[in-house]
Amino acid sequence: MECLICKNKGEKSFFCKVRLLEKPVHNLISCPSCGVLFFEPPPSLVELEEFYSNSYYDFDKYKDEHSGRLLGRKLRKHSKEGRFLDIGCSTGHFLKGVKDSSGWQVFGTEFSKSAVTYAKENLGLEVCHGDIKAAGYPKNYFSHIRMNHVLEHVADPSAFLTEIYRTLKPAGTFCKIR
Ligand SMILES: [Zn+2]
Repeated sequence: MECLICKNKGEKSFFCKVRLLEKPVHNLISCPSCGVLFFEPPPSLVELEEFYSNSYYDFDKYKDEHSGRLLGRKLRKHSKEGRFLDIGCSTGHFLKGVKDSSGWQVFGTEFSKSAVTYAKENLGLEVCHGDIKAAGYPKNYFSHIRMNHVLEHVADPSAFLTEIYRTLKPAGTFCKIR
């Protein structure tokens, strides 16, 4: 199996057994070339959905919304309008903070179906279930894209970053903004 990060095709070494849920158990294997660790076999969509659904509601939504407002103000300084995407937006409180303080259009993607439902129904946000590819955003669409604690959960990080690059405007920013 080819390493998803460095494309090395060499023998991968066993690191330990891991599991997201009670079952199934996966092997965590490491690439001899770049040292990245990954699941073998990769978790199924059903497993991911169940795993993320259970871990989403024990956070401080006000703190999240406040952090969103701080970013929203920065975005507004850059431009009076734009499109902002939060990848892995959870229940959407950060996204709501950005929306309220920036005046920008805001979008989110999220793996947990229950979190997507919460964000839509309680906060009136436009959130897509699944990853950024599943959302099918147009090319050169976003002015700023943010993600936090996401890349380490992604099965194919290179393809994921390529999709982010495709949907970002040529002068758009990703993660860091002054
Ligand atoms: Zn590698």
